[in-house]
Amino acid sequence: MAGEMDVQASDGVVRKPRPCPLCNQFGGHDLPFGRDGWRTVQCDGCDFVYMPEVPELEEVGTTFEWSQSYAAETKRRRKRSPLISRLDQMTRVRTRMFGRRTPMQDVRRYMQSGRILDLGCGNGSYLAGAGAGFQLYGIDISPALTRDADALFRQSGGQAICAPCVDGLKQFDEGFFDAAVLRSYLEHEPEPGPVLEALFRTLKPGGIAVIKVPNYASWNRHFTGARWCGFRFPDHVNYFTPNTLRAMAEQHGYRVMIRWRDQLPTDDNVWAVLQRP
Ligand SMILES: [Zn+2]
Repeated sequence: MAGEMDVQASDGVVRKPRPCPLCNQFGGHDLPFGRDGWRTVQCDGCDFVYMPEVPELEEVGTTFEWSQSYAAETKRRRKRSPLISRLDQMTRVRTRMFGRRTPMQDVRRYMQSGRILDLGCGNGSYLAGAGAGFQLYGIDISPALTRDADALFRQSGGQAICAPCVDGLKQFDEGFFDAAVLRSYLEHEPEPGPVLEALFRTLKPGGIAVIKVPNYASWNRHFTGARWCGFRFPDHVNYFTPNTLRAMAEQHGYRVMIRWRDQLPTDDNVWAVLQRP
């Protein structure tokens, strides 16, 4: 990143410039989505949509702790337009048809036990509740949340590590994990490519990673524009479509499985199963 300088904004938050996370080039056109000076661009080279400046990681663990900004965002959205309510209704209809989807359901199509890693594990409550039969591991950048997760995961023989995910993954041996879940995590990660690369090394051959991220290609995003529920600034720094998620995962050697029901345009999320061949 020679020539690129960190910028201290008026709110005191250090904004770190970065190239396109998919093709590693600088240069994109601005999109009319953002808040408080946080920009969103679409890469001129590969069409990936991302924030070209992101908060310094140290700030993410404290100032922008995700759970806090999630609460603020929920409050902001309470006033809803009829269109958004209508789209929400479509989500509820789909949930009735297919049941509420969780990443562990996808994991259990492949295995019922083994070592499982939750990247961006938060306080660990998800795996502690849904991961029965597995040895539970997690990595998260928030010290407070990781402490809670560690206490839960140790009961299964696993542990939680407080670190940026690339650094945390380096602490595990090659082929250590049978599975990983990335639940609404990769959209937060300033370095999604290096994380997928580091995760690949720690998965066993045949091991899988289940990913859920907001779907930038969803109808809801097209219809609701800047009010789309997937936009969260500056927390969500990557905006995947099924195509760009597939492209990034294939770049790092994964076999990528995105089925038709994983990429419904009526769903605000896209799902994928990545397998280390
Ligand atoms: Zn690009």
